[in-house]
Order: sequence, then C-alpha cells, then structure tokens
Amino acid sequence: MVGGSPMIDQAPLEAPWIHGRPRGAPDTDPPLQVRALDATTFVIRQSKSVTYEAPFLYLLVGAERALLLDTGAVEERRRCDVRGAVDALLPDDVDLLVAHSHGHGDHVAGDGQFAGRPRTTVVGRDVDSARAGWGFTDGPEEVVELDLGGRLLEVVGIPGHHPTSVAVYDRQTGSLLTGDSVYPGRLYAPDPELHAASLDRLVAFAGQRPVQRVLGCHIEMRREGGDFPLGARYQPDEAALPMSVDDLVAVRDGTRAAGGRPGVHRVGPALLWNGSCYPALARQVVRLVVDRVRGVA
Ligand SMILES: [Zn+2]
Repeated sequence: MVGGSPMIDQAPLEAPWIHGRPRGAPDTDPPLQVRALDATTFVIRQSKSVTYEAPFLYLLVGAERALLLDTGAVEERRRCDVRGAVDALLPDDVDLLVAHSHGHGDHVAGDGQFAGRPRTTVVGRDVDSARAGWGFTDGPEEVVELDLGGRLLEVVGIPGHHPTSVAVYDRQTGSLLTGDSVYPGRLYAPDPELHAASLDRLVAFAGQRPVQRVLGCHIEMRREGGDFPLGARYQPDEAALPMSVDDLVAVRDGTRAAGGRPGVHRVGPALLWNGSCYPALARQVVRLVVDRVRGVA
C-alpha cells in the first residue's frame, strides 16, 4: 500500500473481519483492513495471510497528537504497510505517539516502519521505556492521563500477561482497549497472581467509567465458543471483536475461580491459560497439524 490510501471498510466493529482462507485457496486478502469507529478513531487488523496472529492496532487521533497503539506482527512495509496506512489516515499537522499494549513481538514488530517519521515518538518495548513513555511514576494502581488535544485518554498498568501490559480508556468513544489481557481468545497468564490482581483493578476501573465496549488485540474464539487452533490461518465464523463490561467481569470472575491453578480454564467468552501450559500447548500443535492436513486451518 506504499503511496496509496487504505480503503476504510464502513462495517461496524461487530461485523465479521477478514479472517483468512483455507489452505490452497488463492490469497486475495489485503494485508490489512481498516475500520473507523468515528472520524478520528481507527481499528486496523493485519490479515491472516501476512501473520497468523492477525492482531488489531488502534489509531486514536486528537487535535494535536495521535496515539498508535501497537504496530503489529510484521516488520517489512512491503508485506504489510502499517506506516502507509497511518500516514494516509493522519493529518500532517498532528504529532504521533507510537506506544504498545504490551511488549510482545506481534505488537511491536512494525516499530521500525516509523523510524525517522517526522513529528513521531516511538516508545521502546522494554519495561523502563514503556513506563517512561506512558508517564508512569508510581505503582500499578496508578492511572495516567494522556491528552491528545481535546481528547483525553486514561492509561492503567495491568501486568500479568506481560510486565508492560496496559489498558487504555478513551473517553471520546467509551472504548476500553485491553491488549492481550482480555480478548475473545487464549489469555496467556504466565504470572497468574499478577494477572488476576490486574483484572480486579481493571473491573473496578471500568465500573467507574461509562465503558461502551472492551476491545482486545486478537480474535481466537469461534462465534459458538471454543477456540481455533493456535497458528490457524483460517477462522470462519470467528467471534466478534467488541466485548462488553459484563464479559470483562465474567473473565475476571472466571480467573478468580481458577485460583491460580495452572492449565486452561474457561473464563466468560475467553480461555485463561494459567502458567506455562505445556500439555495444552502440545495439544494445540497436534490440532493445528490435523486441521492443516484436513485443509481447514
Ligand atoms: Zn498478541
């Protein structure tokens, strides 16, 4: 898409997204899909054809500054031009802050596309850089405000999935962006205690604000429940992206009920993977191989 502008898909966030193709089918999917929640709020998904992670990225534009939350799983512009999409969506006189829901590779890989971009700050993926980038100076209960110019965001640390995990609340749209800590999929909690404590704080945080929707960074669940195999490149009838505050509460309640026990637990509309989960991971690899052979993944 270098030099072109991205097609903005007019469908609501609830509608099915481009979700990959069965093995052997011709790949005609665009490398990314852009939807507008309003005139200054964009949700970008990288296609299954360029990365099985198919992460969601968020671009929130204020009068003076914009926040790009995550740069996706693909390094090279020629494979997936996130930079080109942002350039096309962003007015020239607006500064850009590139920061991350957390520091995992599938959310930061595109950072290099923004190196040298005018009026742009790219926050590093490590703990110290992330804390400084958001302006955290205190403990995990701290809520920091980020003013984009007529658009106020509130950011709160929710470590557990990753030490740098944050949630971002956008007052303009009532959206709560929860990264990989809450989404319709496999919620990996290598530190179960920290993750559960973060969810408690996140539920309290959401309860004090008029949250319209909870938006995570992946979809891995089917509409009727159950997950697609890890690594799937074809996800027909996948669950909707937006979740409700009730869903968030159900995720928290399920996480509390799991009580830190290692393994896979159903938590509301998602699955909690507590601890290292090697047996469950092995089962996922077998599922993926079987589905690939059957041509359905
Ligand atoms: Zn991720």
